[in-house]
Amino acid sequence: MIPHTTPACQTDSWQKTLQQAIRDPAELLALLELPRELLPAARRAASRFPLRVPRGYASRIQKGDPADPLLLQILPLQQEMQTTPGYHADPVGDVAAMPLPGLLHKYAGRVLLITTGACGIHCRYCFRRDFPYAAARPDQGEWQAALDYIAADTSIREVILSGGDPLSLSDARLAELVQRLEAIPHLQRLRLHTRFPVILPERVNRKLLTWLARCRLQKIMVVHTNHANEIDRPVTEALRTIGKQGVTLLNQAVLLRGINDNPEALCGLSESLFTAGVLPYYLHQLDKIQGASHFAVEDATAVDLLQQLRQQLPGYLVPRLVRELTGEAAKIPLESRNFL
Ligand SMILES: *Cc1c(COP(=O)(O)O)cnc(C)c1O
Ligand code: SF4
Repeated sequence: MIPHTTPACQTDSWQKTLQQAIRDPAELLALLELPRELLPAARRAASRFPLRVPRGYASRIQKGDPADPLLLQILPLQQEMQTTPGYHADPVGDVAAMPLPGLLHKYAGRVLLITTGACGIHCRYCFRRDFPYAAARPDQGEWQAALDYIAADTSIREVILSGGDPLSLSDARLAELVQRLEAIPHLQRLRLHTRFPVILPERVNRKLLTWLARCRLQKIMVVHTNHANEIDRPVTEALRTIGKQGVTLLNQAVLLRGINDNPEALCGLSESLFTAGVLPYYLHQLDKIQGASHFAVEDATAVDLLQQLRQQLPGYLVPRLVRELTGEAAKIPLESRNFL
């Protein structure tokens, strides 16, 4: 399943596949045999945050079902246009937590690098949908300032590559960045926050596996999956291949109304993840980003769902239900006394 490597000058096959992603709402509706009446609103919502879905992901969506749990993650809807009080453009205070462009240092011992604004898919609930990537991104892949910052602070043990999606970058650029990171002696861990193995399993190619295997740091990959239907056979194979490289695999999901806000969906997700060698890590309460309020689930409902999961699953398959709050030293567990 691992494609042969191609010379550096050529476009990799995953890049070609990604270029063919669906961007036109009319094409998506026709392909999935959905009512044409959805089109005007889809066009309006897509003009604010464009539609983007790889064809392989779209093929996992049930045709003719407007409530499909994968469709609802990617289809621009009229509800995105409504303004909801309490919802913002930067709900988690990320812009304030950047000591330099592209570097977030909110929590002890770890920093997060915004490596790119690009993603392989556009998730309608994304808390970074309005993020000012142009201002936050280091110019022309110039990592020097971020690397100097990390090298100067020996309390930093772990670097998280995030975005956007770091696996949007070419393997040549990633390998170079990782090489420069591993030269910083006090760094122990490299973490990748990516949705690529789930939305475009072809991304897990030999080049990626090669630089991952070479890196001296302990590696953690946190993928992002919200529903078991996202995990088909090629996704399972891609994740298992990454696991074989000695990478610890974790998942973060977002609790989304109408998508995974029931015990069956969440149990199914945990089971399918584990089949692919991935442990559930976080289940996030939605960040209050403007345009996503229709996905929100009440805190009391969320806590109740978690209690049901705990009755049905082994403890290691129950994710931590958390919310990110501006100014806190970590993500906050919802079941703690802070909330109840
Ligand atoms: C979520 C997040 C992290 C990682 O937090 P963990 O609890 O270690 O998963 C680090 N930095 C920022 C800015 C984050 O938002
Ligand atoms: S892949 Fe992640 S960062 Fe990109 S749109 Fe989806 S949720 Fe947002």
